[in-house]
Amino acid sequence: MQAIYDVTIDELEKYFLNKNEKKYKAKYLYNFLYKEKIKDFDEITTLKKSLRDELKEDFYFPTLTLLKHEKSEDVQKFLFSLEDNLLIEAVLMEHDYGLSLCMSSQVGCNMGCKFCESGRLKKRRNLEAYEMVEQILKVEELISKKISRIVVMGIGEPFDNYDNFCKFIKIINSDLGLSIGSRHITVSTCGVVPKIKEFASFPYQVNLAISLHSAIENKRQELMPISRAYDLNTLKEALIYYYNKTHRRITIEYIMLNKVNDSIEDAKALVNYVKDLNCYINLIPYNTTNGSDFERSSDKNIKQFYNYLIKNKLTATVRKEFGSKISAACGQLSSMAEK
Ligand code: SF4
Repeated sequence: MQAIYDVTIDELEKYFLNKNEKKYKAKYLYNFLYKEKIKDFDEITTLKKSLRDELKEDFYFPTLTLLKHEKSEDVQKFLFSLEDNLLIEAVLMEHDYGLSLCMSSQVGCNMGCKFCESGRLKKRRNLEAYEMVEQILKVEELISKKISRIVVMGIGEPFDNYDNFCKFIKIINSDLGLSIGSRHITVSTCGVVPKIKEFASFPYQVNLAISLHSAIENKRQELMPISRAYDLNTLKEALIYYYNKTHRRITIEYIMLNKVNDSIEDAKALVNYVKDLNCYINLIPYNTTNGSDFERSSDKNIKQFYNYLIKNKLTATVRKEFGSKISAACGQLSSMAEK
């Protein structure tokens, strides 16, 4: 049996055609799943009973179980249990322009970025596409509101789960599904070069963000082991390839770590690294957590770093700090899961 949220509209059309049913039934069913949010095929009383029974034999409705829900002013954090009792988290952020969900793509992560709480949990497995879809469905159900933006930046490296991630995008982007516009979806990678190149041919205009965090080779290798496999030059070649193919501006994510990567020398290296890339820099104040070896950069250093980028004609912002009270910052999920 397959989870019903794991099926793309094309697959569902084939399914109905194989049963000698009209393929429009796929759209009909998708509408009930994602717009009406049914939880049982028998709720579609306009489909004949024999067909509903066949659907029940072939598909099931999976359920994420909510274990914990923490709220603060503009951020909510959800701890979910999967069908095999493994745990994942999602974080909802309230922006002026709408609700944005930062979601997980794997259980744990093998990339081992030193500053990252999520990376402390070794990867247990990839999430299936439906388990990513469910995070959106479940949070929308819990808050009774529509989520307008998705950032795949929670636990896991999405490009280490590439096929499921791409399938997930197809499902949520469908007008008949959750209809989340591809420009409202951002995927963040720590720099899995072959997949960045492959992603350049992905036929959806999803935004790409790169977790860079240092443009100094040995420092980045210290912070992010992926950099030993794909050094800064190799990463840059991939980013140029991606841009030449897609003409989509790349976001560079840069977590500000006190006395680690926040000096003017670091800013200079960053300017030099990105000067011929069409990109936007997102400076992220680190969310200091218990047991971490790292601290948030001071406001003074963040400002100085930011001013240096602006003076050198880069486009940059300092990201609003979400979740400092409930450990919900980017790359810092899973603290609840660990407990
Ligand atoms: S920052 Fe992202 S890629 Fe790195 S360990 Fe954390 S979850 Fe994995």
